[in-house]
Amino acid sequence: MLGMDKLLELQELDSAIDRLEHRRAQLEAGEELAAARRAMEEAESQLGELRLASDAVDAESRRLEHEIDSIGAKLAAEEKRMYDGSIVNAKELEALQHEITSLKERRSRAEDDLLELMERREDLDPRAAEAATEVGAARSRVEDLGGDAVREFDEIAAELSAKRAEREALASAFDEELLELYEDLRRQKHGVGAAAIVEGVCQACHEKLSAVELDRLKHADGVKRCEYCRRIVVFV
Ligand SMILES: [Zn+2]
Repeated sequence: MLGMDKLLELQELDSAIDRLEHRRAQLEAGEELAAARRAMEEAESQLGELRLASDAVDAESRRLEHEIDSIGAKLAAEEKRMYDGSIVNAKELEALQHEITSLKERRSRAEDDLLELMERREDLDPRAAEAATEVGAARSRVEDLGGDAVREFDEIAAELSAKRAEREALASAFDEELLELYEDLRRQKHGVGAAAIVEGVCQACHEKLSAVELDRLKHADGVKRCEYCRRIVVFV
């Protein structure tokens, strides 16, 4: 039967072509690029959130600073009134003292809040810087992948046409019946129609053939098949 001796070579070529086609389909679907884009969008949205939080802290800090200043000004005015002798009425003086105490409390609360905001800012700043770095890395990965995909696509196209030509030349020397059986098996069995027998083991299904069966196969004429997976087997 013509081609039996070249069957494993044909299988190897076909498997290589299958791998290349699979890779090309992956590139066409752009899965890696899409994943990189998603990662970039995620990093960008994280950075956006951190920046929003940072802006909110800034705005609230400014408001508090302003409040502290205005309380300070009010306090200075009230304290001046307290000591400049303009108030002699004891009740009025008591009310003023009360007002000063309450202003001081308000200022102290505002200062505490401001301090808390500064701590929050210290926490946010490095996180935002880290997120910005991540965005930069994700963005260049997207750009790299885009360029790499184009290059790889061209390489695969060239390799595929070379391998297909090689395959065609090889297959033309095969007995048609053998080729049909092989191709049928490839369709049924995940692209593998022929396998080597190494030390009594079928290299496709990895079952060890019985001694009796091995002996029978070795002496049989024509196409030999694995007793387990039914693929065509070749003794090497
Ligand atoms: Zn097998």
